[in-house]
Amino acid sequence: MLKLKKGDTVKITIGKDKGREGKIEKVMPKEAKVLVPGVNMYKKHVKSMGETKGGIYDIPRALSFGKIALVCPKCKKITRVGFKIIGTEKVRVCKKCKKEIDIK
Ligand SMILES: [Zn+2]
Repeated sequence: MLKLKKGDTVKITIGKDKGREGKIEKVMPKEAKVLVPGVNMYKKHVKSMGETKGGIYDIPRALSFGKIALVCPKCKKITRVGFKIIGTEKVRVCKKCKKEIDIK
């Protein structure tokens, strides 16, 4: 089970965007990376091709799990994720406030 999911709020802990927050748009488990719109942008030069207009586009670059920290939706602190079994379900818990992250 992954520690991070789509829709999670994360904070960048390393790099030029350190301190910025965003919501995960996509998790790429194989690469251990996530995509956070508006964060870690880079400029890509695109050539005109058919319908696509050429120019410079801002494209978000995926961030590795090691560069981000989850912001707990309950205590609003950056935290590490733990797991807990409730009934037959494995749920994520915040290691700071011990509350379940996924249960609203
Ligand atoms: Zn918490």
